[in-house]
Amino acid sequence: MTALFISDLHLAPERPEIHEQFLDFARRIAVQADALYVLGDLFEYWLGDDDFDDAFNRGVAEALAAVSRSGAALHIMRGNRDVLAGVTFAERCGAALIADATAIDLYGTPTLLMHGDTLCTDDLEYQKFRAYANDPDHQARFLAQPLAARREQMLGLRAESEAKKQGKTAAIMDVSPAAVEQVLREHGYPRLIHGHTHRPARHVHVVDGHTCERWVLNDWYRGGGYLRCDSAGCELVSL
Ligand code: MN
Repeated sequence: MTALFISDLHLAPERPEIHEQFLDFARRIAVQADALYVLGDLFEYWLGDDDFDDAFNRGVAEALAAVSRSGAALHIMRGNRDVLAGVTFAERCGAALIADATAIDLYGTPTLLMHGDTLCTDDLEYQKFRAYANDPDHQARFLAQPLAARREQMLGLRAESEAKKQGKTAAIMDVSPAAVEQVLREHGYPRLIHGHTHRPARHVHVVDGHTCERWVLNDWYRGGGYLRCDSAGCELVSL
């Protein structure tokens, strides 16, 4: 029994090599797993579940649906880039949409799954933006606009976000150890898996005397990767 975890693929038609790598991963590797968890930021951006006339989006959903048909239980969590991915999108992929955070029993080990951005509590500017992006009224207003207008706004927001990142230190954009300890305390020890920060690693945190492990998933900008877990433990695999 094996479960695979991916995040931060940032799929976009502008990066065909990553798209190819994802299709290859889906066809060759994911189909052999018992479960695949996509922990956010599958797409560079997602304009809404009505954007399925787009051939690129349809292709990604079809690749995931094929994984699901092969028998792997498919779970999708929204990230900050695809916060508007909804039930329709998940259905097209043959996936269950899961909340950020979701606690699972992973072959006997309680494991907490998150995208990871809510752990970056030192980045106050980002958290302010996140609250705005997750506001249901704002989302409804955004989704009420035509796709072309949404795309234009989204590209503007992306450019703004990238410009803001330039002025931030690496430490501010990483997770806060206090936030990590807090979620482990709230949701249970001893394992946390998340993405978002693009710093693949295994970290050890001792929380209230419990030794916990925190796995950070690969992003797919510089060659992708995934986390593979079975009853013996987890390992990061580079593609
Ligand atoms: Mn992210």
